[in-house]
Amino acid sequence: MTASMAQAASPLLDVRGLVKHFVIGGGFLGKPKATVRAVDGIDFSLNAGETLGLVGESGCGKSTAGKTILRLLAPTSGTIHLRGADISGLSKAEMRPYRRDMQVIFQDPYSSLNPRMNAGEIVGEPMLNYGLATASERRGKVAELFQRVGLRADSMVKYPHEFSGGQRQRLGIARALALQPGLIICDEPVSALDVSVQAQIINLLIDLQQSFGLSYLFIAHDLAVVQHISQRVAVMYLGKIVELAPTGELFANPLHPYTEALLAAVPAANPKERRTRALLTGDVPSPISPPPGCRFHTRCPHAEARCKLEEPALKQTAAGHSVACHLR
Ligand code: SF4
Repeated sequence: MTASMAQAASPLLDVRGLVKHFVIGGGFLGKPKATVRAVDGIDFSLNAGETLGLVGESGCGKSTAGKTILRLLAPTSGTIHLRGADISGLSKAEMRPYRRDMQVIFQDPYSSLNPRMNAGEIVGEPMLNYGLATASERRGKVAELFQRVGLRADSMVKYPHEFSGGQRQRLGIARALALQPGLIICDEPVSALDVSVQAQIINLLIDLQQSFGLSYLFIAHDLAVVQHISQRVAVMYLGKIVELAPTGELFANPLHPYTEALLAAVPAANPKERRTRALLTGDVPSPISPPPGCRFHTRCPHAEARCKLEEPALKQTAAGHSVACHLR
């Protein structure tokens, strides 16, 4: 599906004002209570068949956002609509039919695959849990999934430790596909892999998306990783989305100084190309006490007096392109 076709479709996922705070400390004689503002009010939608990249440094809240959308964490406030249904306040039992439609691929497939189950059992388990097929039907479907993700059918009897990192990620993808979901949240799915294997997994995800009409929320810390697979990219900083744009537009015309800095870290296609953008310095401030005003002002080379006082709203500057910066 092309980006324009995806834009025309109604949202599969719609997230409004999503907040996830964690209260820490406060035990008897313990540290005083503090609130970690991991996700602090984000809005976006994801269309059927589309990939939205969600990018930011470690600690920006992107993985927490993914887990909250999956309802592995309860939202503090805000709404999550999946195919028009509000799933934000559903109980574990009420979530069960929706879980089939929302799957996840983790960064480290090894820790998410049961080491005591063989690969065939791992991929077939979701179908078993939902009572979707007889044992022989399940074997056939698992064999089909193995073939679809580029694994040999005879490797079904192997255990996770007998696979390479890339093969284990293929196993994680086959398991995520077993229930025929509409949405897959890919949480840093290639970050732990060698660069050559990364490209193979990204190409596999693109191929599967085209075959099954999947939607991906693709979480990564590296803009280069999301460039090839995403139609749109949302950039997150300290719990907020600071820029959201079609991928080509974001790379050609970044408007937020943070996006510019992330782009400066992306290797240039032409090594002779001179870097004109500043590299990021310093660490992400603590989400327990984010800086007042614009949260990026402590690291921004363009910060002005009002940046320390007023928080910039995310506003649209062109079709599909939004940015949160006083200078735009
Ligand atoms: Fe920089 Fe100010 Fe824009 Fe924030 S609002 S990104 S501090 S210029």
